[in-house]
This record gives sequence, C-alpha cells and structure tokens, in this order.
Amino acid sequence: MKIKLVLFLCLFLIAADSSAQENDITAALYESYDQFKEPSLNKRRIKHKALQPLINRLMSDPKYTVKVVGESIEGRDLTLISIGTGPTSVFLWSQMHGDEPTATQAIFDIINFLNGDTFIAEKEAILSNITLHFLPMLNPDGAEAYTRRNRLGIDINRDALMLQSPEGRTLKMVRDSLDADFGFNLHDQSTYYNAERTEKPATISYLAPAYNYEKDINEVRGNAMKVIVFMNSIIQKYAPGQVGRYNDDFEPRAFGDNIQKWGTSAILIESGGYPGDPEKQEIRKLNYVSILSAVYTIAKGNYKNIPLEDYEKIPENDRMLFDLKIEGLTYTLLGQEYKLDLGIHRSEVDNADHSNFYYNSTVADQGDLSTFYGYETLDAVGYTVKSGKVHPELFKSIESLKESEVFKYLKQGYTYVRLESLPSGKKDTNLPIQIVSKDFKAPVLNLRAGMNPTFVLEKDNEIQFAVVNGFLIRLNGDKSNFKNALILRK
Ligand SMILES: [Zn+2]
Repeated sequence: MKIKLVLFLCLFLIAADSSAQENDITAALYESYDQFKEPSLNKRRIKHKALQPLINRLMSDPKYTVKVVGESIEGRDLTLISIGTGPTSVFLWSQMHGDEPTATQAIFDIINFLNGDTFIAEKEAILSNITLHFLPMLNPDGAEAYTRRNRLGIDINRDALMLQSPEGRTLKMVRDSLDADFGFNLHDQSTYYNAERTEKPATISYLAPAYNYEKDINEVRGNAMKVIVFMNSIIQKYAPGQVGRYNDDFEPRAFGDNIQKWGTSAILIESGGYPGDPEKQEIRKLNYVSILSAVYTIAKGNYKNIPLEDYEKIPENDRMLFDLKIEGLTYTLLGQEYKLDLGIHRSEVDNADHSNFYYNSTVADQGDLSTFYGYETLDAVGYTVKSGKVHPELFKSIESLKESEVFKYLKQGYTYVRLESLPSGKKDTNLPIQIVSKDFKAPVLNLRAGMNPTFVLEKDNEIQFAVVNGFLIRLNGDKSNFKNALILRK
C-alpha cells in the first residue's frame, strides 16, 4: 500500500514537473522571440521569391534535407524542408490559401530557432524524438496575386478527392510518403471571427477535423484534440479569451478531414485578428510560441495525459465583429427620426502588384446590432448622423492641403475636398478627408448596407465626430486609428 502511494506521488510529481517545465519553455520562447523572428518577412504580402534565399541557405546545412516535391500550376517550386532523426513524424504545411501567410512567416521563425545556439536541450529533445517536415506556402501562385484560390481558380482545400491541382496532389503525396503522425494545417481566417458571445476576437482558432459524418473520435483524432487543448492553454496566457473552436461538421472534400481519415492527427490552426495588429505580427509570434511548444510536448509525449473532454470547453468560433461599431445614432429619414446601430467593415484593396493595399470601407449592417461587437465601438446615443459636405474651395493638388486645415474642415462638416485635377493612378490618401473631382456633388445621406461610410455626427449643434472611409475621427484631435481616405474618381 505504502509503495503504491509513493509510486503514485512520484508519478504525480513527474507529471507536475513536466508541465511546469513546459510552461517555463513557453515563457522563454515568448521572451526570446525577437532573436528568431525572420526579418525579411515582415508583411503579409509575401511572395514565393522572398522565401527562396531562406530555403537556399538550408540546402548547404547538413542538418536539413531540402527537396522540391512539386510545382504549382505556374511552375513555382513546392519545397519540403526536413530536420530531425526522431521516429515521430510531424508535417506542417502553410498557405494553402494564397492570402493566408501568417504561419509561413512563423515557420521561418521556427527554422531560425532550430538554427540558433540557445535552447540546446530542448532542441535535442525535439529532434531526437521527432522528424519535422515543413512545406511553407503550398499555394505560391495564389500568394503572388494575394488571393485564396490557386491559378486554376479552385479552393485547394476542396480538392482532396478530385486532386485536380498539382498543389493538392503534392500535399497528398507528401502526406502519404511520410505517413506523418501529426499534421499541422496552417491557415488565416477573417479578422471578424470572435469567441462565441464575447467581444474577444478569435486571434487563433482550432479544429481537429472529423473524419466521418458521425464525428467519431478515434485515437488519431483524439491526439489532435489533446494537442489543441495544450496549445489553447498557451494562447490563453498571452491572449486571454481570444481562442475559438471551429465547427467540426465533416467536409468530405477538405484536406484536414481526409488527412485525419488517412491516419495523420490533423490540427487546423487559423490565425484571425488581434486589436491594433493589421500585419498580424503578434499573431505570428503566437503561432511560433504555440506550435513550437506543441512540438515539444509531442516530443516528450506529455500531450497523452491531457483530458479529451477539455477540447469541447474551448469556446466556439462566431463571426460577430466589425472594425467599427457605432451604437444608437439618430438618423432622420423623410422627416422621421430613427435610432440605429451601424457596423462597418474595412476591406483591403490591393495595389497592382499585390505588394501593398489600402482600405475601402462599407457599412456591413445596420439596425439592432446588439449581438455584435466592434474592435472599436462608439456610443453615439444622442448624436445625429449628417451627410458630409463638399468644401466650396477648389484646390490645386493634394500637396496644397494641410492636415491641420483638413481637421478644421471636418469640424465644419466637410468630408470632401475637390481638386482641379486628380492625381493619376492614386486611389487613396493619408489625409483624413475624401478627395473628389471638381464636379462632385455631395451625396444625399441614405444609410444602407454596402455604402462607403463617410459622414459626421452632431450633438447640440456641434460636430464632434467624423467618419471618413469607415475610420472614426474624434474631432478633439485623436485620429490614431485612421489609415486612409479615398480619391473618388466619379
Ligand atoms: Zn485557409
């Protein structure tokens, strides 16, 4: 009896000790991140070309096996990077959707970590127990055009059965040849996802996809769930409440679902939104920390003790966020006053070579939006929405406008300034006012979904807020969230 008790205590202490160790490692990874962050990939619009020097560097390193395993439709190489000697095979692929690059960046951060000269014991534990295989940017043609789909115009993630895309065929071929134990399917999701019934964005969402309509849980899927529970506990430390869990309805055409079926524990990670992080660099860091910690826990086998039922405790994903939510404004229509909420989305519009973007905003919804949330929220009760006016003066050029003057115009209710001639090719401006041609007539305010939100908010005969291209400008001087207005050609 005594011996049993001692044994039990020992086991308990070992378990407690290993989880404390993992916590330490996670904290150390978080703290030391900047040392390993790959500096050449600092914006979301990254192209295949930018990855090649990083990949080439690994070719001469004997630790790595670097193999071209396929080609995109437009002929860009798909490269598999492998490292480690362990019996457990972990396969990570990113950017199957061309406009979802966050994890591609994190993969190169992880590779920098593996190449560094710190964390020696941890790396030894990882690489002697695991062989890691990375396939970054599975859809390079999509990345080139910063678009979800591949050059064939299909969603590779609905091609697991037909296998019409060379990218999909490559993914299946690599999965089959490795017969990987774990597969990390790395994506980005809309920033408008939130953790169900909270205002918290789903900065990271997870799914252990089902492998049949019954959503059965076998050991393969169960292991994916356990690793997800572990990663959730890490994200909760750095982004409390900002994790969502995807609906697990079976999608027979999707790769995640099939990879689970083929015997690889498939873990879907979706990078969503984080307040004030448009280039998702904080989310990239969370990818790095949580994936590396997960790899470590797989190497140690510690995930096995995690209770499966904790998976269901992760809040579900919902899609209830706006960039800007304006609550309870007063709107006069045909002589009657109404009270409305407005929900505003800011869409990214790419420049010609998809290296940069500007925002073009729309009213996404209006009415009672009490079940929705905003990254930024304004209580506009008591404020009346008024159409912005066109400034009477005709200006020569954008350069002849000063920001301080523009602020005065906004306070006077002007949200449009006319130019003698519009600068050719330019579609946006950093000035917080819409730029229009000389014949432009101010629109009659007709609030509706789909319109560009440009107006002012008035209370006690004073204009206190302007909304220009969906950006809220507090006329007391704070315009910290403002990015761009539009140059309107009509
Ligand atoms: Zn995706």
